[in-house]
Amino acid sequence: MELVQRPGDPVASQSGVWTGAAAGSPDLDGGQPRRLPYRRKLSDCVARCNTLRMVVFSCGRCGAALTPDLALSMRELIRPAYDGRGPGPATMPRGFFAVDPEPFGTPFVPAENQDDDLLHAMPGLPMMIDGVNVVSAGPRDTIVVHPDDASTLRLHPEGDRLIGCCGPNGTEGSNQVCPCGAEVATLMADCYGPNELHFDPHRVSATEVRRPHADF
Ligand SMILES: [Zn+2]
Repeated sequence: MELVQRPGDPVASQSGVWTGAAAGSPDLDGGQPRRLPYRRKLSDCVARCNTLRMVVFSCGRCGAALTPDLALSMRELIRPAYDGRGPGPATMPRGFFAVDPEPFGTPFVPAENQDDDLLHAMPGLPMMIDGVNVVSAGPRDTIVVHPDDASTLRLHPEGDRLIGCCGPNGTEGSNQVCPCGAEVATLMADCYGPNELHFDPHRVSATEVRRPHADF
């Protein structure tokens, strides 16, 4: 995959409106910034990830932008070590997102192989329910971002969703809501697991931010 634009590149503002074209550029319509982003299905964006520039994720219910412009990370999802003293380093750096191909979060189902010591129900977290090892049967292709890149999200009003030690561990389902109340994401931010936020791909939409001189 090739990524041609980096976070902080001034060619796109947080609102997704092109602001970087010089005066007189043929990309300016009547001297006004040209509005370039367009909405497309998230699955299309994921399928075209090798050509994605920047994406803004928005609430699937109200349309509010929930992230700044984020670039697809080309790195494999690697969870930094955590030492049990509060949330550890975030899995994703600020300004980037990744798509997690593994099932994530609730519901949980009994694992086929109960003797597999490497089973994880959540990233980095083995779990047993009623003495049975479980694995996630949640959605695949959740969008993983740095928790600080979704600063408008609010904690779920149901306290049970926020169970954890130093922070929510994400095992009780969606625990982050859009200001409109829609359950859109799950935050893992406890001391005994990774520190990352997963958007539910069925509850958010992705708006691709394109450059006027895009080469595709
Ligand atoms: Zn909303």
